[in-house]
Amino acid sequence: MLNPKIGLPILYFRLLNRNYPLGLWKRYAKLFQGVFTSSSILALSFDCDTDQDIDVVWDVHSRLMDMNILPIYAVPGDLLKRGEKVYTRIFETGAEFINHGGREHTYFDKELNRHVSCFFYDQQTLDILKEDIVLGHNTLQSVLGVTPTGFRTPHFGTFQRNEHLTFLYQTLREMGYVFSSSTVPLKGYQYGPIYKKSGIIEIPVTGTFTEPMNILDTWAFFEAPDRQKIASEYRNECNQIGKFASTNPILLNIYGDPSHIYNEPLFFESMKDLMQTMRNCNFSQLIEAVE
Ligand SMILES: [Zn+2]
Repeated sequence: MLNPKIGLPILYFRLLNRNYPLGLWKRYAKLFQGVFTSSSILALSFDCDTDQDIDVVWDVHSRLMDMNILPIYAVPGDLLKRGEKVYTRIFETGAEFINHGGREHTYFDKELNRHVSCFFYDQQTLDILKEDIVLGHNTLQSVLGVTPTGFRTPHFGTFQRNEHLTFLYQTLREMGYVFSSSTVPLKGYQYGPIYKKSGIIEIPVTGTFTEPMNILDTWAFFEAPDRQKIASEYRNECNQIGKFASTNPILLNIYGDPSHIYNEPLFFESMKDLMQTMRNCNFSQLIEAVE
């Protein structure tokens, strides 16, 4: 049921993205309805890539729990160790944790006075990648006592080529993993909101309503230093998705970083809005719903 059929050419999706974005959403909804019988689902995950996330994550988590949202967490091993106390507290509320590699993949640049991305997976040797995936796995086991079954590639946007994903899925399969959420929105329009590739279930992240090929993340709307979007546009995108999802069941698989949004009321309003028409699931629950 989850095995994708031969896809349409990427050019087709690019043309729709530019000229008829609603067409991509309709296709995405049709693919969802081929797999799920339920109404719309919201999966919200947080990549927690900095020490600042450790400081604000409990506040963000508890406010979302009050809205009946239990986020999923992707925390690099080194940060999981430093934030052991707060992440254990979050884990005890029932939140799902997935492997997000072992090493940190941002650093604080004093000159720029902000965090900068590093340790891109597409720039490493395969041995280093494997080592990082194993390190993330072992750290989750030692800090939270959990054996993860899901993975999110650090900076996954630059790790989308066929050979990247083939390597990733093979490594994850060998380690007993079940799923990954490491692909861009395009895959969702090509293959559906959840599909199986090389023995691993992939759950692509979702795009924005107006430009469905672009990821709906908190970086682009709330944090990027050169951002062209503003917070009210995030609210607007979520509003339009919510409206569409009320009559066209879909999976909305979105992610963000707690430090980008802890003091952004429009983010919380957007989540509250979405919960009017969606129910919240973590990735494992989502997989159970199709299997
Ligand atoms: Zn990350």
